[in-house]
Amino acid sequence: MDPFVLSYEGFDPDAEGLREVLTSTGNGRFCARGAVEWEKADSVHYPGTYAHGVYNRETTILGGVPVLNEDLVNLPNWLVLTLRIDRGDAVRLADVEVLEYRHELDLRDAVMTRSVRFRDGVGRETTLETRRFVSMAHPNRAGIEWTLTAENWSGRVEVISAIDGRVTNSGVARYLELEGRHLDPVSPRTFGPEVIALKVRTRQSNMYISQAARTRVSVAERPLAVERSLFQTEDYVQQSLAFDAVQHEPVRIEKMIALATSREPATSDSLTKAGNAALRSPNFAPALVPHTGAWEELWRVCDVQARCDEQVQHLLRVHICHILQVCSRHTADLDAGLPARGLNGEAYRGHVFWDELYVFPFLSFRLPEVTRGLLMYRYRRLEEARAAALEAGFAGAMFPWQSGSEGTEETQRLHLNPLSGRWEPDLSHNQRHVSAAIFYNIWHYFQATRDLAFLRDYGAEMMLEIARFWGSIAHFNPERGRYEIHGVMGPDEFHEKYPGADEGGLRNNAYTNVMVAWLCGLAGEVLSWLPDNRADALRSRLEISDQELSLWQDMSRRMFVPFHDDGIMSQFEGYEDLEELDWDAYRKRYGNIQRLDRILNAEGDDPNRYKLSKQADVVMLFYLFAPVGIQELFERLGYEYRPDTAARNIAYYDQRTSHGSTLSFVTFAGVLAPLDPESSWERFLVALRSDVEDIQGGTTREGIHMGVMSGTVDLMQRAYPGTEIRDGVLRFQPWLPAALEHVAFRMQFQRTPMQVTLDHERLTIILSREGAGSPIRVGVGDEIRELCPGDTGTFELSSPVAAGQQGSNP
Ligand code: BGC
Repeated sequence: MDPFVLSYEGFDPDAEGLREVLTSTGNGRFCARGAVEWEKADSVHYPGTYAHGVYNRETTILGGVPVLNEDLVNLPNWLVLTLRIDRGDAVRLADVEVLEYRHELDLRDAVMTRSVRFRDGVGRETTLETRRFVSMAHPNRAGIEWTLTAENWSGRVEVISAIDGRVTNSGVARYLELEGRHLDPVSPRTFGPEVIALKVRTRQSNMYISQAARTRVSVAERPLAVERSLFQTEDYVQQSLAFDAVQHEPVRIEKMIALATSREPATSDSLTKAGNAALRSPNFAPALVPHTGAWEELWRVCDVQARCDEQVQHLLRVHICHILQVCSRHTADLDAGLPARGLNGEAYRGHVFWDELYVFPFLSFRLPEVTRGLLMYRYRRLEEARAAALEAGFAGAMFPWQSGSEGTEETQRLHLNPLSGRWEPDLSHNQRHVSAAIFYNIWHYFQATRDLAFLRDYGAEMMLEIARFWGSIAHFNPERGRYEIHGVMGPDEFHEKYPGADEGGLRNNAYTNVMVAWLCGLAGEVLSWLPDNRADALRSRLEISDQELSLWQDMSRRMFVPFHDDGIMSQFEGYEDLEELDWDAYRKRYGNIQRLDRILNAEGDDPNRYKLSKQADVVMLFYLFAPVGIQELFERLGYEYRPDTAARNIAYYDQRTSHGSTLSFVTFAGVLAPLDPESSWERFLVALRSDVEDIQGGTTREGIHMGVMSGTVDLMQRAYPGTEIRDGVLRFQPWLPAALEHVAFRMQFQRTPMQVTLDHERLTIILSREGAGSPIRVGVGDEIRELCPGDTGTFELSSPVAAGQQGSNP
């Protein structure tokens, strides 16, 4: 097995949706599913293309109720290439005998290939080898190359090369009742004899998207005389290229594409821009050279080498390849957020959630400018977050649970339960913890990079406004002498409200309250990290009073955290009164019970009644904070933190979590790394395989899980090496599971690039001389050393894996 190739043998209609997602090609600007060029959207194929930030809103009338949704728009299909031999019907996989079929994604440069050898109804055998890439070197460019070989015939061939603007968003069965038309036609156009182009506009958000395609035919590197004819309507344009194919003489067809949108920099008319770019484009092979070069550069910085099971190494690379296809340097200069399901499908409508929390650490240690760009997405939506807080009766900034174009709340109010077929209310917008995650992300980015300019100009303002929001949603309960937060949900989406309650939200979600205590402690210090002049200006512009600063101080010491049983945090107040679920009975009855919410609702029951969690909630605390950090937090709050607090809380919730979100496997793998490395490794493997094996039974065909893909890579760089930044020191506390012999990766800390190599005996850090590196401090356990660019630091690990210790170290 080539560890750098993801490959599938044989055509399998049931698996095609999944394969399309996992062989998508993208460059951080736009991404296209690995769909067959000659097939239209149907129950097997879905040729979707998505570009960062191209959202559109449409209203659907559901049972008389207008429901507004914002979607990441499926863009016109530029993949279209169809083949007709001797005036026969267009070749379709279902109509021919497929003799050989192989579909691959080369992870080295994200080039998708598909080779098909088939026999048609009259016995002609043909081999078609296709290659496709979306250029990492040129943000507007993509290319498709076909090599067609007539194996036992010669004859007239017609290839249709088209751009099809008649597409809708119809990739997710659950959403089919919702309006899926997002595009209005503008115009088709040609640019000279070889280039066709199409311009469309999103119906409500009025963005223009243009694509241009230049198609050429050659034999043995020489242009072949073709007869071209054009057909166009307002929303479709095609060029037909007819030529003679000779037995055993491979014919090459190259379709070079340019895609431009009105929302990207340096654009006046997207149609002219795309048309000119297609005209000027090099041919496929020369266009591939800088693309491959750009990927080589990315891999040098982003690869993670793990010596263990080959499949593990392979899947880590599958994940890295996909993360980079969604988030690259081309993303950084756009106004782009991080869609939870990548640019690979329509699940969650391309919305931006808290999943960034799992993605940014991978990026921040390698491509920090990409994290910065994605954080700017939040900053540009600060005004909306302020308005949302105000409208809800609070101050500061309340970021939406699901964010799209403008940063308004895009969470649907109703969702379809596919098991019951009923539309059920969705209260998940009460996941206010997303604002705490944004605070954490800014903080972690700053810790990793020391990008003071970002903090000064944008980050600090967001942090202060987020703290202000928490200060206003919290209230002081004099009886307890503590601050409380009511009406919110934690990350566990199975608990939206108390059983039988009319109102959504819960009291005192432990995860949220501890996060708030933590961030309130930092918020008071934020101004002191800024240059005086800026600190004064910001403080006066935001009108931060002494009283507010002392409120945050007080909250950092007196947030309420609910506990039940001995030292077990209650996920929220009242959790202990819920019923225990008979897990075995449900497992027996349903097999896979990850989505217990759907099962219980379909039974007419209510998940809110039970002690069960969709995903890590309390346990998130041990994932986000290292043992020392969480202990300090608890001590500051005046709660007892025992050496076994982490272990006991993790074990308690482990028994009550269905992992209905695969993010949960990442979190549990992280927290179990120091406690039970073997169990951690099992969870890691589940998370690692979750997309390629589609363990949720059909979700991956609707898009990759960015949080899980990044989270698994992050486990290699943070959980197992025990990487933590504290007091400006990059610390390691390795806990390698037995199955992981050795791990090596590049990272940068405070702009200093380095190579980290770790096995069970030794950790070696080599600081690169490249770039603008400066001395940094690194530590293992209590041993802290200052290293300069060019230095090597070797740390002997005395007790390689200290199982059974408290907490985790991601
Ligand atoms: C999870 C959320 C996550 C969302 C998007 C949901 O299933 O419960 O935590 O943010 O998916 O990935």
